Amino acid sequence: MLSYSGVNERSKVQTEAQASTPLVAASAPRTPTFKDAGQAFSDAINAGRLTDVGHQGICPDVQACRYAACYMYMGTWDGRDTFKHILTRRYIP
Ligand SMILES: [Zn+2]
Repeated sequence: MLSYSGVNERSKVQTEAQASTPLVAASAPRTPTFKDAGQAFSDAINAGRLTDVGHQGICPDVQACRYAACYMYMGTWDGRDTFKHILTRRYIP
């Protein structure tokens, strides 16, 4: 009973997402998708875009800093994860 209910709920969500996609695509500007933020940071660290070791406290060099803790995940645009520095609001390339 429980598993039937779960499957039913999932297919309902999927149907709603499919139904709304064309409407969103037709009227909205480019929008990002959002993966799990922890996964996004792990990917960026593995790719060398961010580092998982850094400074303590306030950011000592906002221009050069690539410490993951100083960045916000801003979504995935055209397959690329984007991160913005919390103080400068600049995006890493
Ligand atoms: Zn920093």
